Amino acid sequence: MQVIQLKLFGVEPDPQPDPPRFQESVTDIFTRVYRQKAIGARRKSRGVNAEVGFRAWANANGRIRLGGETLHVHLSDLWRAAPPAVVESLAEILVSKLFRQAPAQEHSDRYREWVNTEEVHNEMVRLRRERGRKSFAPAFGLCHDLDALFDRLNQEYFQGLLSRPRLGWSRAASATLLGHYDPPHHAIVLNRLLDSPEIPPPVVEFVLYHEMLHILHPVELRGGRRHIHTKAFRIDEKRFAAYDEARRYIRRRNWREF
Ligand SMILES: [Zn+2]
Repeated sequence: MQVIQLKLFGVEPDPQPDPPRFQESVTDIFTRVYRQKAIGARRKSRGVNAEVGFRAWANANGRIRLGGETLHVHLSDLWRAAPPAVVESLAEILVSKLFRQAPAQEHSDRYREWVNTEEVHNEMVRLRRERGRKSFAPAFGLCHDLDALFDRLNQEYFQGLLSRPRLGWSRAASATLLGHYDPPHHAIVLNRLLDSPEIPPPVVEFVLYHEMLHILHPVELRGGRRHIHTKAFRIDEKRFAAYDEARRYIRRRNWREF
């Protein structure tokens, strides 16, 4: 049927905006990337379709698994808002893993660049604050009261200016992690292993001092990478009175970074 548009009173109709460009869904992207890789690897690809589910994870992770003809893809909620080009790179990275191939550098770069943008980082921090309710034992331990220790170190090294975080002992003893500072919760948790008469007090103090420095020196973003222990951090760390003694002890016990 022919459609005739009448031009009334000489008024030109408004020019139509460009129709929206076709945009692939996340599912389409994964299906296409999988099939491309399967063809490249001379594997059967016919019929494999991706199924994408979003999960309430407070990170930028993705998981992938092939079950029969279905490519099961689980992505953290963060990926809902990701630009298609970044989803494409994530698909390349995850599907490459499935084929035991290394993803192309451009995809790793694009992924890392996006994950390290301030916007994404802030969103992750927000999700963590909302979801991860911190669980640790009170600051008043068997041997050490972290609140009192914090006050003393704050006076001694920070002119009392550091804002007080939540302090506590980890519920479980960790073999490697001596302590950590959690910016979203503004919390410092020390490994309960340290709350023992066998551990020299300067070592416990040093670990707390180290975590306190993380409040003073936030993570720096440079060249798309996150620098946690910056040069300035390490210089300040050496200001601790029993630095050498504490470091030696930690090395001897084979405890790793914290
Ligand atoms: Zn650290």
